[in-house]
Amino acid sequence: MKKRKWKNLYTISQTFVCPYCLQELPLSEMTVEHEPPKSRQKELGPSTKIWACKRCNNEKGALTAQEYAEWKRLEFIRNGGLSNQRR
Ligand SMILES: [Zn+2]
Repeated sequence: MKKRKWKNLYTISQTFVCPYCLQELPLSEMTVEHEPPKSRQKELGPSTKIWACKRCNNEKGALTAQEYAEWKRLEFIRNGGLSNQRR
């Protein structure tokens, strides 16, 4: 019961902002993500559940939010940075 109520509440707002890519997306594009990753709980302690888009969650894998942000930044530079943004 509790779970259903919680979901309804979020459905009303229609869109979510992914904390990693800052894109606004509908709930259908979001997934529950564990930060730090569940697989690293022994090392990093208990995780918190947050909403993230499917793409980021998939890309992030077993990285922490910080490691993933760093990876994203390097990826951006590797891909040519701003000069490659608009073609
Ligand atoms: Zn995202």
